[in-house]
Amino acid sequence: MRKGIAILQEEQGFTLVEVVVVLVIIGILTAITVPQYTRITNQAKERACAANIKAIETAVMSYSAANAGEYPENVETLLESNYLNEIPKCPLSAAGEDAGYTIDKNNGTVTCNHCDKGNKS
Ligand SMILES: [Zn+2]
Repeated sequence: MRKGIAILQEEQGFTLVEVVVVLVIIGILTAITVPQYTRITNQAKERACAANIKAIETAVMSYSAANAGEYPENVETLLESNYLNEIPKCPLSAAGEDAGYTIDKNNGTVTCNHCDKGNKS
């Protein structure tokens, strides 16, 4: 009979304290990693947007060189005159929104309407 009780005691699972400790550790790790992940993905999207702006600026300069220094009206003009293969879309824009890039016709600078990443060069 004593042997049977000893076996029963050895087969117990985790105590409540052990489970709570594990849950607290998982909670702390989640609280640390989720904001970091969000920050890093937003940073990557902003950098992709900056790369889009550079690509559009290059097309604007090519357009300007071929059109007596005149800058294009908008990004669609670059697409129609084959300076861009497609209009890049800001990664920070929501689905269904417009591409989000505008060209200043006076000086050719490109800005993003979604993340305010203007020409920083
Ligand atoms: Zn953007």
